[in-house]
Formats: sequence, C-alpha cells, structure tokens
Amino acid sequence: MRLLVVEDEPDLLVLMSRALERGGFAVDGAPDLAQADLHLGLASYDALILDLNLPDGDGLSLLRRLRARGSRLPILVLTARDALEDRVIGLDAGADDYLVKPFHTVELIARIRALLRRPDAVLGVVLELGNLVLETTTRQASVAGVDISLSVREMALLEQLLRRQGNVVPREMLEAGLYSFDSEIGSNAMEVLVHRLRRKLADSRASVCLHTVRGVGYLLADAR
Ligand code: CA
Repeated sequence: MRLLVVEDEPDLLVLMSRALERGGFAVDGAPDLAQADLHLGLASYDALILDLNLPDGDGLSLLRRLRARGSRLPILVLTARDALEDRVIGLDAGADDYLVKPFHTVELIARIRALLRRPDAVLGVVLELGNLVLETTTRQASVAGVDISLSVREMALLEQLLRRQGNVVPREMLEAGLYSFDSEIGSNAMEVLVHRLRRKLADSRASVCLHTVRGVGYLLADAR
C-alpha cells in the first residue's frame, strides 16, 4: 500500500512518514500542492493524507479537483485544532475522514487502515489462499491457524501478492507498492525479499507457491 502525505511542516511530515512506514506503508511526502500534483501524476496511491493550509494554496482545491475528475482515492484531511468549519468543508468537498492536529501517529495509522477497508475500497480485510491467511487490519499472517513472523516489507509483499493471487504481478508494480521515491532500492533487493518470504512460507508449511516469472514478475498460487 502506497500513501502520499501532503504536509508543509517538515517535522510533522517526517514523523508521519516514519510512523506510516513502520506500519507497513510505502510513503511519499510532498510539502506543497505543486509537489503533490507531481507525485499524483507519477505514481498510483492507495490513500492521500492532506493538510489543508499549504504554502501555495488550500488543500481543498486539490481535494475538489480530484473528486471533480472522478477519483475515488481515499483522502484523510488534516485540520488545525478547533477549525470546525474546515472539517465540515473538507467532508463536503469529498474527504473521507479528518484528523485534528495535534494527533497521535497511532490514531493516524488506525484511521488510514479504516479508510482502506471501507466497502467501496477494493480491499478486503482478510486475504486467504490455501491454508494461508493474512489479516490486513492486525497485520498478522498465519498458516493453518499458526501465526508466522514477517518483517514489515515481507508482510507488504505478501499482501500485494495475495490481493492479486493467481496472477503474475509485475515486478515494477510490487516495487512501486513497497518503496517510496526516496528509498534506495538495490538491484537485487526484490530477489532477496522474495527469497526470504518464500523460505518463511515453506518453513511454516504454507500450501502456496511463490513463483518467479523471469523478466516479468511474481505469482502466488495455491500449491495444492
Ligand atoms: Ca500547514
């Protein structure tokens, strides 16, 4: 899951980005509307976190533009304390939720997860294949009822593969969901990650097979 965070206070942007990355999201940050537009044109995001008071304009203008062109991107608006009017206008303009500053990052992550599991989002809460189950809300994977321990990145990779199970997922698509623009991705980082995940799945006797489709990407399928 890849998120765009638009926030002009550098410390807050870093704080949110780090917390969200620990929560398993790939995060790009933008300090203003111009950068936000640039990112939205370059990458595909699963949700947007949008501060309203930005140096080059009002976040609401971006929100309205996205909705006007039919975008259903889940959007969480950040507003200043007591700015009730902002909240109402934000929701009217098509925001899915709002958070009042200052907030705790735990709350931010909980709200984003809630947005991503709304029925009209294309996301399920529990993903299953064979005897493998991934609870996307608690970030816990299990095989035949026994929890398995995965790193944040392994979990994110498994989630992407499970969401497109039975289909070859292009490597570029996986990388886009796992790494933000700022990440340093070594040329074999994906191979190493896939190798580790494959080994953990095998060790826990998951009845799934993680295939490499050379030159294209990866495929997770039922092995039974
Ligand atoms: Ca601001």
